[in-house]
Amino acid sequence: MNAPLITSSLELATAGVEISHLSKSFGSHLVLDDISMSVEPGSVTALIGPSGSGKSTLLRCVNLLETPDAGTVTVGSQTITAGQPVKDRDLLALRRQVGMVFQSFNLFPHFSVLRNVAFPQERVLGRSREEAEARALTLLERVGLKEKAHQHPARCSGGQQQRIAIARALALEPSAMLFDEPTSALDPEVGVEVLAVMRELASAGMTMIVVTHEMQFAREVGDHLVVMADGRIIEEGVPAEIMAAPKEERTRRFLSAVL
Ligand code: ADP
Ligand code: MG
Repeated sequence: MNAPLITSSLELATAGVEISHLSKSFGSHLVLDDISMSVEPGSVTALIGPSGSGKSTLLRCVNLLETPDAGTVTVGSQTITAGQPVKDRDLLALRRQVGMVFQSFNLFPHFSVLRNVAFPQERVLGRSREEAEARALTLLERVGLKEKAHQHPARCSGGQQQRIAIARALALEPSAMLFDEPTSALDPEVGVEVLAVMRELASAGMTMIVVTHEMQFAREVGDHLVVMADGRIIEEGVPAEIMAAPKEERTRRFLSAVL
């Protein structure tokens, strides 16, 4: 794959993400227990921890796919406080600022690759079809997939589909991006293509929270590493330092399983 130059035509309006005293239960199960976390504008936070520790729920609370029970989420200048009435306008404004990429790419199977990237721009940003498709082509070129524009996603490899999903999220001009295990459904060799795109996005100054088991990526690209277990942050700091000398036994156990 040619190294994609995602950024040359993207003006990133990067924002910080602040999570403060966030809690969330499903029934009687406390899944997030008083989580506070600060992601500086333009920085990359890697989020790790055993399955079931609440990583996905935390990301889903940041763009309000889940409603937190307590706490606040701030993206840029937009704050949502749990338990307080939220205007639809504010909810949409916050959601619009946050792009999300999932493990399963969630592309529209009946749309071409181009329409996958263009359609949300028309619906969410009210762009004309011409404008949205022009921008979609630019982004597809940036992720190395312009030649796939008129095919259906099913004709693309998993790694290509994930790069399309990233292009689709970027087309909405988010000021922060959330990635939930973006490479765990992929073979390692195609996962590399996706990580390369993410690496470039990070160096362009995108604010990112990345749930991943790719510890090399976390060490090289992450400015900050957060370790979760049982709905709490058990350890955080400089990725290389935590990987070299974890303070918590549970961090040590998790790292020895993934490294
Ligand atoms: P992780 O991403 O770290 O594996 P999750 O955030 O997916 O963890 O899940 C944390 C816990 O919350 C798990 O025990 C999971 O079963 C539970 N959970 C997640 N989503 C829901 C839901 N919609 N309803 C009930 N329980 C849920
Ligand atoms: Mg998860």
